[in-house]
Amino acid sequence: MSAVLDPPASSSAPSSAEGTGAPVKPLPIDAAKLCELADELPTPFHIYDEAGIRANARRLNAAFAWNPGFREYFAVKATPTPGILELFRDENCGMDCSSAAELMLCDRIGVTGERIMFTSNNTPAVEFRRAKELGAILNLDDLTHLPYVAEEAGGLPETLCFRFNPGPLRGGNAIIGKPEDAKYGFTREQLFDGYRQAQAGGVKRFGLHAMVASNELDPQFFVDTARMLFALAVEVHEATGVRIEFVNLGGGIGIPYRPGQEAVSYEQVSEGTKAAYDEIVLPAGLDPLAVYMENGRCMTGPYGVLVTKAVHRKEIYKRYVGVDACMANLMRPGMYGAYHHVSVLGRGGEKVNAPSAGPVDVVGSLCENNDKFAIDRELPAVERGDVLAIHDAGAHGHSMGFQYNGKLRSAEYLLKEDGSVEQIRRAETYDDLFATLNV
Ligand SMILES: *Cc1c(COP(=O)(O)O)cnc(C)c1O
Repeated sequence: MSAVLDPPASSSAPSSAEGTGAPVKPLPIDAAKLCELADELPTPFHIYDEAGIRANARRLNAAFAWNPGFREYFAVKATPTPGILELFRDENCGMDCSSAAELMLCDRIGVTGERIMFTSNNTPAVEFRRAKELGAILNLDDLTHLPYVAEEAGGLPETLCFRFNPGPLRGGNAIIGKPEDAKYGFTREQLFDGYRQAQAGGVKRFGLHAMVASNELDPQFFVDTARMLFALAVEVHEATGVRIEFVNLGGGIGIPYRPGQEAVSYEQVSEGTKAAYDEIVLPAGLDPLAVYMENGRCMTGPYGVLVTKAVHRKEIYKRYVGVDACMANLMRPGMYGAYHHVSVLGRGGEKVNAPSAGPVDVVGSLCENNDKFAIDRELPAVERGDVLAIHDAGAHGHSMGFQYNGKLRSAEYLLKEDGSVEQIRRAETYDDLFATLNV
């Protein structure tokens, strides 16, 4: 990693600057560098840190090196920008797609075949066809999709995976909901039926998938998922004779959005998974069984920043800082009430550790009162023109953008390992916005 990418020494630990009440969280990209870029480039914009993304992907792959078939399929929907997808392609990852457009993006960057896992739901036949044309692994969401693919999408492929919904046995959380209330997957009984039917229909190779949480910070959760899927793979083998070749633990590894939270240790997830493997898979004779994951958030989230400038300050019944970004650039806070840390950088990074001037709401310009990045947040005094960094915007950030109120989606940049900055997606223009109109 190059020095410029290290968090500034003064904010290297998530702590409260002394006596200020304003917690500090390190940025993936140096504050002065972000301010310099905000002077050169129109704000708002998203910027990602190549070195951080690559190092993280390598760490995940290294943690699971004990499993020769291990593969992380990056969840394309988190950051569907070729400039980012190419990094994962080059780090030996696959791509997890759930729509035709995501499949097309993979095709464009030369990712095809079993490097693609197609984990869709309520899928139209045309999308199954497209996935099959690319040779992707189809991960079916329902038992009825077997005859559907057979009849409407030109026949069953050689390899199939099924998504398991464990129902009320397990947790779940606010984003994905409780498994029994979630629309995804097969019930346990349906799974056994599914493998039998698929085998009878000529399918030769099989996988098993579950994704039961989102933004989960407890490593044990993923170990428990692995344990559940290993045990189920053994049961399927005993009951149907079908030998499952891979289990996909899904995505959902959380990230420390709040100062003081701890990142999930991949090593801990891996060690627990290996213990379960040795205990369950080996004695059942199912080795080698490949372990897959399809994380999005933890792969890019912490390495992306939304850079914005303060436009207005307003004091009525509460105090507000208005910025030039809005929910169209990052809708998680408005949609889920999700916490995203905000750092006030000032003009050149000088405010990073400044004391709090009291609580403010940081707001965008949509005609929607939930267009707020932060509510009652302790922040240093903000002047018009100050640069603000919204942290952890690298996943489910730009990609969730929308055009309500005629807002244009902003550009995305990559801070490369050599220190240069590359535009990987231009900002939208009014011509883009009006391109679908008949007048
Ligand atoms: C969204 C999604 C993912 C990625 O989730 P993260 O929380 O970003 O890791 C993986 N698999 C499926 C099926 C998904 O829907």
